[in-house]
Amino acid sequence: MHQGWKFTVLAALMGCVHVASVPAALEGTPRARYTVTIFDNFDGARVHACFDGFAPSYLASMDADAARSPTRAWSEHGVLHVHEMRIDLPTSTKGVCVSYETRFVDEVFRTRDSRAVVVSQAQWLWRPEPFPSDLDASVSIALSSGARASLPWAHDGTVYYLGRGAFYRDAYNVFGVFSEESFAVAGTSVRVARLGPWPVYEVTRQWLTRAIGAVASVGHELPVERLHFVIVPVDGDGMSRPVAFGMVRRGGGVSVLLIPSSTATVRQLEADWVTIHELSHLWLPRLHRKDRWLSEGIATYLQEVLRARCGLQSAKISWDRIRDGLERGRRSGTGRILTSESRDMNRTGAYYRVYWAGTAFALEADLRLRRESAGEMTLLRALELARPRLSTLPGVVDAEEVLAVLDEVSGSDFLVEVAARYASSARFPTTRPLDDPATKPILREIMKPEPDRCVLSVESSP
Ligand SMILES: [Zn+2]
Repeated sequence: MHQGWKFTVLAALMGCVHVASVPAALEGTPRARYTVTIFDNFDGARVHACFDGFAPSYLASMDADAARSPTRAWSEHGVLHVHEMRIDLPTSTKGVCVSYETRFVDEVFRTRDSRAVVVSQAQWLWRPEPFPSDLDASVSIALSSGARASLPWAHDGTVYYLGRGAFYRDAYNVFGVFSEESFAVAGTSVRVARLGPWPVYEVTRQWLTRAIGAVASVGHELPVERLHFVIVPVDGDGMSRPVAFGMVRRGGGVSVLLIPSSTATVRQLEADWVTIHELSHLWLPRLHRKDRWLSEGIATYLQEVLRARCGLQSAKISWDRIRDGLERGRRSGTGRILTSESRDMNRTGAYYRVYWAGTAFALEADLRLRRESAGEMTLLRALELARPRLSTLPGVVDAEEVLAVLDEVSGSDFLVEVAARYASSARFPTTRPLDDPATKPILREIMKPEPDRCVLSVESSP
């Protein structure tokens, strides 16, 4: 085992104890300093956490599954009680330090050779409660020689700075032996953790750059400063799609998990919908499960419109895919109203119904905004204008809140009302506008290629 990290950890532990014993720190900003030592086989961690400037009464887990992971916890006063998603802390009026060990009981992915693992920080990060709103929190990661960490948060070397969201929502963390690259595009710093040699970095970078450029074209830049990608390639043999799966997580920073075929070409990866769909979610805040038809519908609509705009697929293919999707949506579902379908889709599998009913709404909204403004206003323009307001909404929000903002910034007065009709209907929406000769010119406008609006090259290293 590499000796350097032991020294680092020891120094950090001593420093922490010292800080915690100085009562003057209580007058300052509440601080949390976590030192996390990842086990050599990446299946757990030993965490030492010091809190000063406030006196938490216990540590809490962010989810019930992860709550099974601490095996033991202790402080300088002895063993601490671990139970029901919490670790009780010794009563203290000043700073306190605590240690605990966790096992990664719920891994997102582990490479076949076990040299790298993807987990949520829910597996190792327990938050102090009561949680101070102005907590200054950082995490120092120590790993064995040759291993590294890739996390979605702002960092300085191995020290990461955590916002509140990191303590409440999942993000993708990678620990182990893998490659990490970074670049900047469309005003966003990008870090990419790749858990396999193929697709090679140049291909990966070009694919992600195109996708970011397409999604950024909704406005002038992507609505996030930092993007963290976790690329988990799978054996391409027998895969029918270039990207098998994607998922965006926003726990204190945006991380996007993508599972591409190891044999996909750069053209295939660029033309695929998954990456653009996932990044399109960033134009809206997180919505409640009952309202996911809206976020999935807008992301699905954007994946087709943006690929046509940026020349990644033809307008005809985009319309064909929308027609096919709407038809699939009409044939699927459990016959209940859209908010119920939306709330339960992970259980019922009514994904087509939810995604494509939402897409029908996005299409109707875009058509009507364009028609009533004589082409001045579009759904994409409304999303861009709404972004500053939407980004200030705290936590998980209602569709109605989002739509009220979209109505206001677009100068329209029908989005909330139309969305309420979709949300409460058990019938699949009409797709008649697609065949209405009067809408033909607007449909052509929607899928018009505008490659100049799509950033297609890497700017520089961040
Ligand atoms: Zn989605």
